[in-house]
Amino acid sequence: MANIGYIQVVRHCNHFCGFCSNPATPWEHTFETMKELVDDLVGRGYFGVVMTGGEPTLHTDLPRIVRYARDAGLHVRMITNGWRLGDRDYARALAEAGLSLVHVSIYSVRPEVERQLRGIAGTVERAMAAIESAHDAGIEVNINGVINRLNADHLDENVRVLCGRFPFLRHFVWNNLDPSMGRAEVNQAEFTPKLRDFELSLHRALSFLHKSGRSFRVERVPLCYMTEFGWASTETRKIVKGEERVVHFLDEKQTVRQTDWGHLYAEACTACSLRPICGGLFDRGGAYDPVELAPVFSSMDPIVQRIIEDPADPSYPLRTLAAWKADFAVRLTEARAPKATRPGAMRDPDAPQVGVITDESLLRYQKKRQAEAKLAERTGLKQERGGPE
Ligand code: SF4
Repeated sequence: MANIGYIQVVRHCNHFCGFCSNPATPWEHTFETMKELVDDLVGRGYFGVVMTGGEPTLHTDLPRIVRYARDAGLHVRMITNGWRLGDRDYARALAEAGLSLVHVSIYSVRPEVERQLRGIAGTVERAMAAIESAHDAGIEVNINGVINRLNADHLDENVRVLCGRFPFLRHFVWNNLDPSMGRAEVNQAEFTPKLRDFELSLHRALSFLHKSGRSFRVERVPLCYMTEFGWASTETRKIVKGEERVVHFLDEKQTVRQTDWGHLYAEACTACSLRPICGGLFDRGGAYDPVELAPVFSSMDPIVQRIIEDPADPSYPLRTLAAWKADFAVRLTEARAPKATRPGAMRDPDAPQVGVITDESLLRYQKKRQAEAKLAERTGLKQERGGPE
């Protein structure tokens, strides 16, 4: 399986997104603590690692840990807001260290909307400069976006503008907003979309990308809102292929191993033919409404076939529908066996400790909280719960 792990390199950021689900903590990484996590992923037989955050480019040892992970045999990727990556020397240094792929996150190509989402101005042009410099340095560039209440009506405009300016872009990733953690939890009313808010614009965006031969993935969107593109659902792909994901959280959650991709299944799901391969409604945070779900009555086979036969993704070894069905039946029986605890996403007690808290890191965290309190006041948003004020 082509499992990918995530290392949160830092948890602070140079932007102040009101829906950030991974805001600052007192935990920090040294090169040594990151090295242990890379070794952990290698020991698990993982294919790759995503350096994420916070904003990972704020760690001075990022190029060094990228090189270490590449030399250890991992495919190295990064998720960034692009603020620093527009610096061509820095992009070249990361490319030389072994960064193969970067996900630049842009939520809206409309500067005023992006300013409201990011908490600061000027981010769209900086992210676009990052796309250019990363591409010129030989790093493959994908675009990441979080679907939220403010960009829900123009996801298609985002892809058209970006593909128009950067025809080399080949892959887009959307995550529907996770309203269960950090600032996203306390600012749910401002940013959490209804599913119907983005249904049309997401369909237009996916149709445009599909027709132009590009690929895409969508996470936390139930299959009844994915129309003919169900095969692009991240959860469905994981369910079909039986993949897992490890996230090394730089906070008290520490290492979480996720093997179960189902969320909430409502009344409507009992009649739905896609239920076995659907991730359902993202229920953590309690912000999405099950009333919006509607059963689908078409066969799941074409979706499965498209995933297991995908020539661009040969990671699943059973390439015929009959072989998949036999394998899936076994996995379903195992998954339905009673378990003492919910097995889907749990802390891995055998993983190495993620990061450290020191007197200095606590002090830095307190200062960060104080600075962000001012930003919260200025933008009219709430700060995440917890932490010293
Ligand atoms: S009705 Fe339920 S199972 Fe069916 S596609 Fe929607 S969320 Fe998935």
